[in-house]
Amino acid sequence: MKLDVDVLRYLSKDDFRVLTAVEMGMRNHEIVPSELIGRIASLKHGGTYKVLKNLLKHKLVHHDSSKYDGFRLTYLGYDFLAIKTMVNRGVFTAVGRQIGVGKESDIFEVASEDGTVMAMKLHRLGRTSFRAVKSKRDYLRHRSSFNWLYLSRLAALKEFAFMKALEEHGFPVPNAVDCNRHCVVMSLIQGYPLVQVKQLQNPDTVFETIIGLVVRLAEHGLIHCDFNEFNIMIDDDEKVTMIDFPQMVSVSHRNAQMYFDRDIECIYKFFGKRFNLSFEEHSDDIDNSEVVPDESSRPSFSSITKTAGFLDKELAASGFTRKDEDEIQKFIEGDVEEDDLSHGEHDSELCQTNIKGFDSLHLDQEEPTSSCNEEDQVDENLQSSEAGQSGDPEGQNSSSEEEDNEQKGDEDDTELVKSLAKQRRRAMAQARKGHKNTASRNSYKDKGGKSSNNSKIQKQLSSW
Ligand code: ADP
Ligand code: MG
Repeated sequence: MKLDVDVLRYLSKDDFRVLTAVEMGMRNHEIVPSELIGRIASLKHGGTYKVLKNLLKHKLVHHDSSKYDGFRLTYLGYDFLAIKTMVNRGVFTAVGRQIGVGKESDIFEVASEDGTVMAMKLHRLGRTSFRAVKSKRDYLRHRSSFNWLYLSRLAALKEFAFMKALEEHGFPVPNAVDCNRHCVVMSLIQGYPLVQVKQLQNPDTVFETIIGLVVRLAEHGLIHCDFNEFNIMIDDDEKVTMIDFPQMVSVSHRNAQMYFDRDIECIYKFFGKRFNLSFEEHSDDIDNSEVVPDESSRPSFSSITKTAGFLDKELAASGFTRKDEDEIQKFIEGDVEEDDLSHGEHDSELCQTNIKGFDSLHLDQEEPTSSCNEEDQVDENLQSSEAGQSGDPEGQNSSSEEEDNEQKGDEDDTELVKSLAKQRRRAMAQARKGHKNTASRNSYKDKGGKSSNNSKIQKQLSSW
């Protein structure tokens, strides 16, 4: 997918306000009713409609009128929200070219003010095969908080948390810089994925280092679960860096042994094929010292002393909770178990490090926000306030406060999110009061889109 950040420069505050309103509506709706977007954004004189048309033109939202008139964010729209937040935080100021296409992500170079080039990974869960997506849809259908954006955000948060924790324990991983929504910024690895490397000076040493990493991970209570030539980077000095962590599991996982063996098998197979390492059973009459190592030294899961929960503290510190882990694991596991050992990734051929063609993002600079998880906090607050449908005192707020919100033209990102969150709660509370079972994804599905609520919303829209 093309990430044309040029568009980003021309988006106004109102554009971002409405885009954020769509994002908020998506916490309860797969397709957010236009009316709800209007209420959350609360622009003067029905201006939301015009803005939505502009967002649609740039493919930041998708229009869906099959069941009722509504919109959802596209991945591009979500990208823009995350990128804007990163720019506001001062993490980077320019986006360069795409350097990787993973199974479920796109990776771009980004540059900070002082010219430091980093890697930005945009998670794109749901981009897998239709079969996998469908099985997940079946599982996720009844979950109110579900959408692909939510899962991609969890994947990013998990990746960020694990990368940070692993780095703190001395593992060779990229430096985790920041994360927001489905976006993780990390240091750029000056190297190539192992899959692109045809020759090594010391294949046996590299092999041993890599196998040693799988073992050390297990000693720290973790299994990578996708440890293969696509997720191991290697530089000109044959230094190894491991990447790609959203699917990691604990050694106490019920399938831990299988995942561990699979990671080990991938490495044995790849080195056997690509670098002709042979792993014959040790026998005394073999005097060829290049045959390393023998099959009998293959690490076995049961003989490793494992410390489950070793990294828990660091993970919690990054804001990644056990509940988050449960949620994402349920999603990922179908995938992991469906996959065979082939790991059908199609990473990009490219992993060059020369920097050219950066698009500088001269956005309005706003107060950088400090924490990685501020919005997540707002998100959680929202979810909990909605879970208990009853008492949201802000739902009864006076209209004067609404006016206040309208006048806040120059709020920073966090302020915008907070103020829109309020509008959203108010809109949801009003909708609940006015007509129970308002436009939720499930209610439309159940009623085949013919509920009286639908027509009400349609009517209101026609007067825009
Ligand atoms: P996925 O989860 O989609 O497989 P990965 O994290 O494996 O995504 O990244 C896909 C590709 O992007 C990698 O194979 C690599 O070529 C490139 N890449 C990812 N992270 C970095 C990085 N920090 N530095 C340089 N290249 C990277
Ligand atoms: Mg990968």
